[in-house]
Amino acid sequence: MSGKNMKANSLADLRSDTVTRPTLEMKSAMMDAPLGDDVYGEDPTVNRLEEKAAHLTGKKAALYCSSGTQSNLLALLSHCQRGDEYIVGQTAHTYRYEAGGAAVLGSIQPQPLDFEPDGTLDLSKVARFIKPDDYHFAKTRLLCLENTQGGKILSMGYLKQARAFADTHGLGFHLDGARVFNAAVALNVDIKEITGLFDTVSCCLSKGLGAPVGSVLCGPADFIARARRWRKMVGGGMRQAGILAAACIYALDNNVDRLAEDHANAKRLAEGLSGIEELNIHPEDVQTNILFATVGDKIDALADHMEKYGICIDRAQHLRLVTHLDITAEDIENTIQGFRDFYQKA
Ligand SMILES: *Cc1c(COP(=O)(O)O)cnc(C)c1O
Repeated sequence: MSGKNMKANSLADLRSDTVTRPTLEMKSAMMDAPLGDDVYGEDPTVNRLEEKAAHLTGKKAALYCSSGTQSNLLALLSHCQRGDEYIVGQTAHTYRYEAGGAAVLGSIQPQPLDFEPDGTLDLSKVARFIKPDDYHFAKTRLLCLENTQGGKILSMGYLKQARAFADTHGLGFHLDGARVFNAAVALNVDIKEITGLFDTVSCCLSKGLGAPVGSVLCGPADFIARARRWRKMVGGGMRQAGILAAACIYALDNNVDRLAEDHANAKRLAEGLSGIEELNIHPEDVQTNILFATVGDKIDALADHMEKYGICIDRAQHLRLVTHLDITAEDIENTIQGFRDFYQKA
């Protein structure tokens, strides 16, 4: 995972789409936002963001959260009781990258299953792991998917099958939609077509959409009311949070359609690097803004080399490269050149 890189501020940073910084226009929207105490429900800008997020995702209500981790945690706590179970991908963010919060704070048992190569969970496998109604077992309560999953888009056909599956088995259905806007833009569908298939959805505004802080959890009104109580309990009741929510509104108004540029940049990068055989990059696998390369133990030398080209990459042997709104087409060309020079010399 990414470490501290103090130089990254002046480099084009391909480590993650979380590194984007607010533009002047976004900051000016923040400066102008009317504010109030959101714990009293009186911050007009937070209220406006929540209404907007609910409307966009086709849900009755939404809740502004400090992070995607918090938003997913509140969802799990609101869907499941102590002793319940949720089914989730082995490498899903909610299971692997959120410090075990649902187990620690909710006594919710995860049932992780391997993702298929296309980012789905095989529903026949899921069926085998749903526990019978028997007091030996935890109660299987919820199915959780991720879209995009490692940059991969779950097909609409699969999502419809999964919705029907959840209904058949009486499971709640949550989407970790950290990058669901990327999926919707790449498929050229209204985001509602995706989110409408789930009971609840968490969307990150601080990734490719470019807001500095925050995610939204969207769902039915009574569900969001429960999540609001949990949010207070875990310390996420923020007061004049409208100063942050204003950036999120700006992001939703201005930065959704342009995700297509990030996808084009990722594709171009994959094409440019695909000639370097040992990286094992297949451009046809790149569906949104994320690609993976196998670098191995040359990674430190490569990362040092790339800094000379003005590019910051993660120091991970299985390297993830992520495009976002602070990465230009020129940065992509510099990255390709830097990699080519490195591997020619090597
Ligand atoms: C980034 C991410 C989250 C939430 O991350 P935060 O850093 O807590 O905002 C959740 N799920 C996925 C798939 C993510 O990539």
